[in-house]
Formats: sequence, C-alpha cells, structure tokens
Amino acid sequence: MNQPAVRLRSVTRSYGTGENAVTALDQVSLDIPRGTFTAVMGPSGSGKSTLLQCTAGLDRPTGGQVLLGETDLTRLSERRLTLLRRQRIGFVFQAFNLLPALTAEQNVGLPLRLAGRRPRRAEVLRVLAEVGLRERAGHRPGELSGGQQQRVALARALVTQPEVLFGDEPTGALDSATSREVLTLLRAMVDRGQTVIMVTHDPVAASCADQVLFLADGRVQGALDAPTAERVAHRMTALGAVPATAAAVASC
Ligand code: ADP
Ligand code: MG
Repeated sequence: MNQPAVRLRSVTRSYGTGENAVTALDQVSLDIPRGTFTAVMGPSGSGKSTLLQCTAGLDRPTGGQVLLGETDLTRLSERRLTLLRRQRIGFVFQAFNLLPALTAEQNVGLPLRLAGRRPRRAEVLRVLAEVGLRERAGHRPGELSGGQQQRVALARALVTQPEVLFGDEPTGALDSATSREVLTLLRAMVDRGQTVIMVTHDPVAASCADQVLFLADGRVQGALDAPTAERVAHRMTALGAVPATAAAVASC
C-alpha cells in the first residue's frame, strides 16, 4: 500500500568511453513516495534531465535498477518499455510539443489513440476541464497562449491516468504569472493523489513541491522538505549554481 511510486537503486548512466567518458548519473538511490510532489534541482549539467529520463523509461541506465511500483524498467524489452511509457507514465517538457494541426481535444486524445483506443469525448473534455480549458477544446495550439498550451500538454499527459507525471522544466518557457497557474494545477493534482516529479531552475517553482532533491555531478547532494523559495535559493548558491534572482519572491 505504502510502496513508493518510484525507486532508484544505484542508478548510473554514463556516456562514451575512455577519456571521453561522462558519468551523468553516479550510483543514485532514492525513493519517491506516492502522492507527493518532488522538485529536482541542480546546476546545469548535473544530471537532472538524465535522472528524469531514466526514471521515466525514456533512457536506459548503464547500471542499477529503476522500479515503477513493482516493475523493474531496466529488465523490460523495448516493446514493453514503450507500452509502459504509454500506459503508466506522463511527461511534460519545456517546449509544449503539441501538434499544431490538431485541436486541443484531439491533442489530448492522442495518447489514447496510441494505446489503441478510440478516445471518448466526455473523457477528454473532463481532463480539459481539470486544467480549466473545457471551453477551448476546439482551439488549435496557435490560437492559445503559452500557458494554455502547457495546460493542454498537461491534460494530454494526464488523460491515461499515469502513475507518475514527470516534468522537465515545464514552466521554463512561461512568464511568472503563467508559471504560477501551471504550478497551482500541479499542486492541486498532487493534493488529489497524483505523484509528480519535476525538474526546475526556479526556487519559487520548487517551493510548490513537498520535497526538493539537489543534484550535483550526477549525485544527490541533499534534500529539503517543506521548501521555501529562499531556502532553496540558498542551497542552489551553495551548490555553485548561479544565484537565483527569484529569492526575494514569495514562495508557492
Ligand atoms: P542537466 O539536465 O542537469 O543540465 P543532463 O542530464 O542533461 O544535465 O546532463 C548531465 C551530463 O551528461 C552533462 O555533462 C551532459 O553533457 C552529459 N550528457 C547528457 N546527455 C548526453 C549524451 N547524449 N551524450 C553525451 N553526454 C551527455
Ligand atoms: Mg536538463
């Protein structure tokens, strides 16, 4: 029942060999409890995206284990991993990656089509309503603001009711007011039981999480529970990241 949503056991990801070898993740072990919001922070190149991609089954570790519930992702064939990504994982990126020729409704229905199902209209509209865009179902991405497009992307990630929702800087392309809308939605989803893991550079965004994990040189260098933007910014500065200008801004 209280099994973690995700467990990493000594996960290593290296690229290249010999003199050119880069260890993007170095024996990372961690547990992410279900129904919690985790922010991942660290300097550029510290391994944040690699951590997210290995955890979400988008990339394969060189060593160690990644468990989603009871399933060890590192033992799955490509085919089963693809199915797992479609059925059990949601992902949002900094770039919204919506298909420009499709309406919001059609974009949100796509993961269901990929899973071999014909989307039921009521089901898609319910998820669009959850992100406050029920009235925009017939609009194409070009007719929506950046914040609205990211909310469509969120609805698309959630329509399959994934066990874990991953975000790689989902607010990175948004202004602060619009970021806040997206973060408020993520927070509300977690409060309803969704597990969310998000990479961010922004201490204010991180302060919406229950827990912040700090990465440096491919290792977890510490964690912060019940984070405030100010405490997050301090830790980031200590890790050698550029001092955050948002430190004075109110927390989530
Ligand atoms: P972050 O998201 O924290 O900026 P990344 O996870 O993207 O960091 O990268 C971690 C390290 O791994 C960096 O040194 C990066 O250059 C290296 N890296 C990432 N992807 C590749 C790749 N495909 N080939 C070689 N090196 C890579
Ligand atoms: Mg990155």
